[in-house]
Amino acid sequence: MTLDILRRELKKRGQRITYQRELILKIFMESENAHFGAEEIYRLLLEKRSRISKATVYRTLALLADFGILNKIEFGDGIVRYELASFDGKSHNHLICKICGKVVEFESDKLDELMETISKETGYRIENYQVKFYGICPDCFKKILRNDDNQKIASESVK
Ligand SMILES: [Zn+2]
Ligand SMILES: [Zn+2]
Repeated sequence: MTLDILRRELKKRGQRITYQRELILKIFMESENAHFGAEEIYRLLLEKRSRISKATVYRTLALLADFGILNKIEFGDGIVRYELASFDGKSHNHLICKICGKVVEFESDKLDELMETISKETGYRIENYQVKFYGICPDCFKKILRNDDNQKIASESVK
């Protein structure tokens, strides 16, 4: 994704890229798999010493979502997050760690096939879909295993 693409997409919708919009969109472009809530965007802007008020961040994110430049997305923790919309019409799905909140995206031909099967069975013309898998990421799982080991060692040394 480049700023030019975003500028063009905004223009198509009769909008232009303002200073604030550009700063916020750059944050999404700079990080891979960016799924940010307004508070996080505000914090990242502060780190860059950008002086944008929290109210402007909230308003700009909502506007960009209305324009279809950002997608609104929720992962069940009550935080409204945003991500850059994909303009290629492809569906992407999310793996969400319920411990650290890490989000990973994936695509799957098998899910595309499943969509077609269900479309045929139900007669629905399905346009897109989004699958969310909730669970524990490998890093958190390793930590859990390590803690279990430590506890085992601790209880054995008591014996
Ligand atoms: Zn995790
Ligand atoms: Zn995503």
